[in-house]
Amino acid sequence: MNNSENLLPKQDIHRRIIHLDMDAFYASVEMRDNPSLKNKALVIAHDPRKHNGHGVITTANYIARRYGVGSAMPAIKAVKKIPQDKLVFVEPNFQKYRAVSKQVHDIMHEITDIVEPISLDEAYLDVTKNKLGSYTAIELGNYMQAEIYKRTGLTCSFGATYNKFLAKMASEYAKPFGKTVILPEEALDFLAKQDIKNFPGVGKKTQNSLRELGINTGKDLQEKSVEFLIGKFKKWGYSLAMHSRGIDLSPVKSDRVRKSIGKERTFEPSIFNQQKALTNLRKYSDEVSKILIEKNLSAKCIVLKVRDSNFNTVTRRRMLKQATRNEKIIFQEARDLFLALPEFLDRGIRLLGVSTTNLEQTHYAEVNLFDTL
Ligand SMILES: [Mg+2]
Repeated sequence: MNNSENLLPKQDIHRRIIHLDMDAFYASVEMRDNPSLKNKALVIAHDPRKHNGHGVITTANYIARRYGVGSAMPAIKAVKKIPQDKLVFVEPNFQKYRAVSKQVHDIMHEITDIVEPISLDEAYLDVTKNKLGSYTAIELGNYMQAEIYKRTGLTCSFGATYNKFLAKMASEYAKPFGKTVILPEEALDFLAKQDIKNFPGVGKKTQNSLRELGINTGKDLQEKSVEFLIGKFKKWGYSLAMHSRGIDLSPVKSDRVRKSIGKERTFEPSIFNQQKALTNLRKYSDEVSKILIEKNLSAKCIVLKVRDSNFNTVTRRRMLKQATRNEKIIFQEARDLFLALPEFLDRGIRLLGVSTTNLEQTHYAEVNLFDTL
């Protein structure tokens, strides 16, 4: 490696990224629902024998794959390669796959809302901060693998490391039911051993041009200078150079926008003291504000939730003229809403909560100076 390495950006190695991928997803769903398919070479596609030879394979189970059959191939290939008594075609049922996919995504969202779906059966998660707190990336991966199996009866594989493309290579590495963790100090070694066809986006054509140059592995790519790769393959060479050196700065782009951010707590025994109630509201307002700032959000609506000792629950909301994330404003609004419900205090307060909705991304230009005070 030489000076042209400076052409590459610096990698942040402190993110924790997981790539999760269901194993032979559509085929596994069909085998789960019809166990007699389990010892067949199952291909999810229109049967080309009934469709004038047409049909494309969406998924093949692992038995079918042993015959060299895989997704995106013409279905007629399966007919040619797999013995008739072994081969079964099942028409894809996307409605069913979508429902299972939703279950899987709900499990991912138990860990983080920074989930980027790639397809029905595959997603990236940024778990640097996560809802389970002090879990390591492998514990989070294990959690999802176990919960997905428990709730759907299906297996998945995951890769955990510090960026997206490497996480994907890691999840591919030990399929099915695989778990692969790549530490930053292991990345170059892992990549060196990979065949070039495992690098993202390296199709047949690129593979051939690379092999003609004697580049067959990640190690070969690492030994070529960045300048050389750019010279040969332009933009594409740049990304090969980055990937072979374990660099990928792209963020995980989350799919679900959070609808509300709030804090609440139940009290046992109930609170009858106004000052104590207000002190708690103040505390929740501070916490909510902190989360809004962290997520670069502002809220246009403040919501108060109160429950009395008789389990009467009310929510009161107030729309603001201008979105805010300032803890003092959040508290003022929550306090006013609370003071308008004196009867709750008389009966004793069992639960108190402050939340914010109608969230919007804070644009830096609009940030009020007082927000940071
Ligand atoms: Mg998959």
